[in-house]
Amino acid sequence: MTPPSAHPDVMDKLVSLSKRRGFIFQSSEIYGGTGSVWDYGPLGVELKKNIKDRWWHAMVRARDDIEGLDAAILMHPRTWEASGHVAGFVDPLVDCKTCKGRFRADKLEDARCPQKPSKQPGQHESCQLTEPRQFNLMFKTFMGPVEETASVVYLRPETAQGIYVNFLNVQQSTRQKVPFGIAQIGKAFRNEITPGNFIFRTREFEQMEMQFFVQPGTDMEWFETWKGLRMQWHHALGLRADRLHFHQHTAGELAHYARAAFDIQFDFGGTLGFQEIEGIHNRGDFDLTQHQQYSSKKLEYFDQPNNARYVPYVVETSVGADRVTLATLVNGYREEAVAGEEEGRTVLGLIPQIAPIKAGIFPLTKKDGQPEMAHRIANDLRTRFPVDYDESGSIGKRYRRQDEVGTPWCVTIDGESTSSNTVTVRDRDTLAQERVDAGQLASYLASKLAG
Ligand code: ATP
Repeated sequence: MTPPSAHPDVMDKLVSLSKRRGFIFQSSEIYGGTGSVWDYGPLGVELKKNIKDRWWHAMVRARDDIEGLDAAILMHPRTWEASGHVAGFVDPLVDCKTCKGRFRADKLEDARCPQKPSKQPGQHESCQLTEPRQFNLMFKTFMGPVEETASVVYLRPETAQGIYVNFLNVQQSTRQKVPFGIAQIGKAFRNEITPGNFIFRTREFEQMEMQFFVQPGTDMEWFETWKGLRMQWHHALGLRADRLHFHQHTAGELAHYARAAFDIQFDFGGTLGFQEIEGIHNRGDFDLTQHQQYSSKKLEYFDQPNNARYVPYVVETSVGADRVTLATLVNGYREEAVAGEEEGRTVLGLIPQIAPIKAGIFPLTKKDGQPEMAHRIANDLRTRFPVDYDESGSIGKRYRRQDEVGTPWCVTIDGESTSSNTVTVRDRDTLAQERVDAGQLASYLASKLAG
């Protein structure tokens, strides 16, 4: 069990902020909701997309040794036999005959029995836990009109297998040489026994995975390189250094084929504390060898200069888009007192690059040509950045509305603006205000976003 965090638990506050401001809604809420499935609202979809775009840029666009891929969710069922998921992607499940609760037998210490007072399942005298049974986490469905065993297919529980089965297609079509990688972002599905903690553990989620194919013997060096690069990426995303650390898989946690594995953990606060957001694994030649065996197709790399053939080793980086989105929300959430005001403010301290709205545009009053000028500015900026025009309520209220969704800048068009063609730009974090030439506003914001 992870020790409680020094950071407060802000999850309930985030759930309510997310619903109120349109970041994240419970799926099918009008029908009572679907268990641990969430929908991203207008601001949430922007935030998550910005995070995915940053990952795609760092992995695919900014490097010449990684190629992108978008493989299908439904794959040949043999894929999941080869990968080991049919036989081994299981969690031990226990039922309680008293409260009808279902728990993961290996995570009882993290679970709570619904009976009062709150205790761990099995700790009340009346608890009657069954023997653990193995429960496969893959969702099954049927391909074609007949629901029979022969037509069973699975919703992929990870995106990685789409990369392995396309290893040669990508290598040959792009003429990449080992070492090189393949990256993809896509949905994955797991029938988790105990999902929860908002979007931390859900049954439908998005992964951003990259498989880096290397010559055997160079794998540990690449493993160290990717560990470093991936930690840097999380720092650059604005996650606080004291909330991030590596967790090395112990012998018990390490998959039998894995040569080394580290998780990057983020401190989510409260009792959740440090939890995995990304896994970095040295998988050896396990996956390609398995697919060779099950498909009877060679998945070897031909090293022309050395006239040698081999099955490359794989260093994998696997990160959850939803979990990282949650980490940025938890990391950024703060409540502050405001000098001279009774009411404080709530701020989402997102880095400007991932903030869903880059600038709020406010006319100070609804007269003297201010709304017209503000509309002109908003329409002009909108072609380059997401901005939000707002003329309702006091200026203080409008600032608060932008602060709590993480908007880094607010532009106010005031009495001076119409005569001098200048506006004020207020910074979310420092609260400093600067007067800027309206004609220079777009390049002013662009240089701030680049910086
Ligand atoms: P956990 O131990 O938390 O179940 P895992 O070790 O099974 O995670 P991986 O299979 O390594 O996770 O998946 C890689 C990443 O995908 C995780 O680091 C996490 O960010 C994300 N992920 C995995 N399962 C879920 C889920 N049910 N909901 C949201 N994100 C998930």
